[in-house]
Amino acid sequence: MFDLLVKNGRLVCSDGVKEGSLAVRDGKIVALLPVGQEAEGRKVVDAAGCYVLPGAVDDHVHFNEPGYTWREDFRHGSRAAAKGGVTTVIDMPMQNLPPVSSAKIMQKKIALLTGKSLVDYALWGALIRSNRDKLSELQAHGAAAFKCFMCDPGKDYTDLRLGEIADRLNLLKSIGGLAGFHCEDYTLLKKGKEDCLSKGKVSPQDYLTVHSVEAERRAVSDIIRLAKGTGARVHICHVSHPLVAELIRQAKEEGVNLTAETCMHYLLLTEEDLLQRGGICKCSPPLRSREAVKQLWEYVADGTLDTICSDHSPCQLAEKDDRGPKGIFGAWGGLSGVQNSLQSAWDYIVNQKQASPVLVARCLAENPARIFGLYGHKGELKAGFDADFVILDPEKKWQIEAMDLEYLHKFSAFCGLKGKGLPVATYLRGECIYKQNKFPTYPAGRFLPVMGGVMDETCDY
Ligand SMILES: [Zn+2]
Repeated sequence: MFDLLVKNGRLVCSDGVKEGSLAVRDGKIVALLPVGQEAEGRKVVDAAGCYVLPGAVDDHVHFNEPGYTWREDFRHGSRAAAKGGVTTVIDMPMQNLPPVSSAKIMQKKIALLTGKSLVDYALWGALIRSNRDKLSELQAHGAAAFKCFMCDPGKDYTDLRLGEIADRLNLLKSIGGLAGFHCEDYTLLKKGKEDCLSKGKVSPQDYLTVHSVEAERRAVSDIIRLAKGTGARVHICHVSHPLVAELIRQAKEEGVNLTAETCMHYLLLTEEDLLQRGGICKCSPPLRSREAVKQLWEYVADGTLDTICSDHSPCQLAEKDDRGPKGIFGAWGGLSGVQNSLQSAWDYIVNQKQASPVLVARCLAENPARIFGLYGHKGELKAGFDADFVILDPEKKWQIEAMDLEYLHKFSAFCGLKGKGLPVATYLRGECIYKQNKFPTYPAGRFLPVMGGVMDETCDY
C-alpha cells in the first residue's frame, strides 16, 4: 500500500515521457509503475489527460525577507510559486537587510523563515567586498551558491572588481563553492548612466543604449577568462542575448567549468515592450530586440543555457513609475515571474517550438537541481527523490491576469500573455500544496542545506 498513487498521467522523466503511475510513500517517490501494474494507494489522484512533471526548481528569486518585505515576502512569493508549479526556490542574498553575508545572518534568516514558505527553499549567500572571510562558513552552513555583481548593485550590496573576483574564485575553488554573476560591465554602465542623467536623456531607449549587449558580453567574457584561469565553478545569471550565449557555448566547448541561466522574459518579451510599456518592463539586463529574442531559443534547445529561472524581483507599482526626474533610470529594475515561468515555458517549448516536455523538465527542474546541489532529492521523477511534482493540463488555455497573481503586489510584465498548458495541482513531498486556488493552511516548506555542491544527506531538513 502506497501513501499516494498518481494514476494515468504522462510522466515526464529525463529519458522520455512515460505512461504510468507515480507511487509515493513517506514523502518520497518509491516507484514509477508501468500501465497495467496494479497497486493500491491510501490516496489516489487521477491524472488522466495530464502530464506529471517534476516540481520546478527556480534557482533565482528575490523574496526579499527580511528587510524588503514591502516588495515581496515568503508567504506571498511561495504561494505564487506553488500555484505556478515551483516546489523549490533558491532565494537571493540581496534586497535583504542585512544581506546574507555571514553564517550568523543566514541562520537568523533561516529561523525567521520557518513556517512561512509553502515550498522548499535553498539560499544564495552574498559575495561582496566585506565578506571574504565569511565565505567558508556560509558554505559550511549550507549556502547553495554565492551571488556577485560586476556592476553597481545599488545600496545595501557591493560589486566586486575583476581582481577581487579572481581572488574570491580561487578561494571558492578551494572549498568547492559555486559563484553566480550578474554580468554587465561596471564602467560602461556607470559612464553611460552618468552621461544620460547629466543630459536629461532618461527614456527607455536611453536605458537600452546604456545596458547594451556589449556591456553584457564584455562582463561575461571577463568572467569566462577568470573561470578558465582559476578553474572555479561559475554560473552566469540571466543571459539575455544570443551573442552572450554564444560566448558561453564556446567556453563550454573548451571545457570551462561554466553553467548559465536565462528567464522566460528574455524568450517572450522584447525591447518593444520596454519602449511601449516603460518601467513595468524594466529589468537588468534589459529586454532585447525581436531578432535576438528569436535566436536565444537556439541556445536553450542546444543546452548552452542550462536553466530557465524567473529572476522574480518584485516591487510596489509606484516604484515602476518612470515619469520622475530620472525617468526610466529611476524605475525599479526587476520583473515578477515566479508564478508564470512553468506555464509560459511549457507553451513556448512544447506548443510553439514543438520540442519535448523533457526539455521543460530539464531546464526548469533537473538542471537547476544538479547545478545547485539539490539533485538526488529534487529535479526528477525518480525513485528515491522527494515526491515534488506538478500535474499540468496541456489543454487548459490561459491568459495571465493581475487578479490571479499571488504576489504581494499583483502586477507583472507578463500580464496579458496567452497560452495553453497550465499547472492544475502541485505536490511537495507527497502533500498537495496547490489545487483549484486552494493552499494548505500550514506552510510545510523547509530549508535545504547544500554542502559543497551536494545537499546534505545527513541533515533531516
Ligand atoms: Zn536577480
